Amino acid sequence: MPSCQRCGNKYMRYIPRIAGYRCDQCGATDTEDIDSATIAYDKALIKAEEHIVVGNWSQAINSIRYLCDQRPVDPRAYQVLLKAYTQNYTIMPKDCNQKEAAACWDKLLRLNNINRELLLYRKKQERILRNEAGEKAFSCVCYSVLFFIMLAITPVAYELSLAEGIIFTVVDFIIICMLIEKEPVKALKRHRYFQKTRLNNPFEYRD
Ligand SMILES: [Zn+2]
Repeated sequence: MPSCQRCGNKYMRYIPRIAGYRCDQCGATDTEDIDSATIAYDKALIKAEEHIVVGNWSQAINSIRYLCDQRPVDPRAYQVLLKAYTQNYTIMPKDCNQKEAAACWDKLLRLNNINRELLLYRKKQERILRNEAGEKAFSCVCYSVLFFIMLAITPVAYELSLAEGIIFTVVDFIIICMLIEKEPVKALKRHRYFQKTRLNNPFEYRD
């Protein structure tokens, strides 16, 4: 990054629109220090953003993935990539996309560049999981109530023998445990993970 010729300020910011640097302090511009690689890089970023605008998620991902290798310490490519993986911050990516999104988040964390949109996205995901955990906890209570009702009524209603009654109780209990373990416990664990710290990688959690 060049320093300002006019006032000597060290921090000139790159402005893609003018394909050059602008001084934060005095507003002087410098377009001579830009090499063609930088211009190509910025064009690729802009193109990926355009793909995102019209919802071409996979094209956006493919057109930007290689940029991360070109400039490993530039946070912009990771940010745009996450925007594509989350389909403009609306979904939780699945499978290998989720793995790659987790890697992007890690890198941004190392670069200290988790932006506001990502924090909002994480917050939204946490809210979804909290609601889900609440609903599942409710269904968990329903299952348990059902279990006790069945337990109390069935042996009497169908006049089961002692052995049949025991078998029925055990089977009933196992089914209830399976239902509870399957959904509510998983939902609670997922939400707990999100609660740990604000910057905890939202894409890292596996059931
Ligand atoms: Zn200046």
